[in-house]
Amino acid sequence: MANPAARPPGSDLDTIAGRLARVRAEIASAAKDAGRDAATVELVAVGKTYGAEVMVEAIEAGQRLFGENRVQEAAGKWPALRERWPDLRLHLIGPLQTNKVKDIIGLVDMLHTLDRDSLAVALVKARDKGNRLPELLVQINTGREPQKAGVPPEDADAFLARCRDEWSLPVGGLMCIPPAEEPPALHFALLREIGRRNGLDRLSMGMSGDYATGIRFGATMVRVGSAIFGSRAPLPA
Ligand SMILES: *Cc1c(COP(=O)(O)O)cnc(C)c1O
Repeated sequence: MANPAARPPGSDLDTIAGRLARVRAEIASAAKDAGRDAATVELVAVGKTYGAEVMVEAIEAGQRLFGENRVQEAAGKWPALRERWPDLRLHLIGPLQTNKVKDIIGLVDMLHTLDRDSLAVALVKARDKGNRLPELLVQINTGREPQKAGVPPEDADAFLARCRDEWSLPVGGLMCIPPAEEPPALHFALLREIGRRNGLDRLSMGMSGDYATGIRFGATMVRVGSAIFGSRAPLPA
């Protein structure tokens, strides 16, 4: 067993602290290569399928921003952690059913997946009842995949205009999940272009396999799960 003191701190890739340190270093280096300030890229640590005790390891390693893709899992895991660490922030990065809007109020700080009129209307109704809404990103289905959520790219401008003019919903940026079998760069470039022409510069794009590419194309949030927490068991259907 090598003397751990002989290695730089956080270099142990068997620990969450070590893998977080590596991801942070890769974010910094991708930002530098792109001529960007690394502080303009936020790391959303995606803890789905892992329990609260695993999240605590990441929190103790300094991580404060987390993502979950299921409302029920987020509601079960995060309220107690947020009580212990009031500066934690939680983003919902998975699809949201309209009847679950009430469940995310006060639970998540940002929703990455606003993607249809019915959800926008449900959010407006919640706001009209006096609730404070999370920050909002619109998900774009850049690959036009039928099984995937998101606004088709050709409908993006009109949807964003409705959010602004019809519903006064403050959309802060865009999110995409490129098709698994395609190089992501064109999808990231498309998201950036839709953002540019709509005056939106917050972009949530890039996961464990492609976050450096996301940063090259302007990502301001990368959503990284398995590179930090390890590979996940398949989710129950
Ligand atoms: C799970 C998930 C991620 C993280 O995926 P990894 O490949 O494990 O980094 C990112 N975005 C969304 C929407 C996810 O559901």
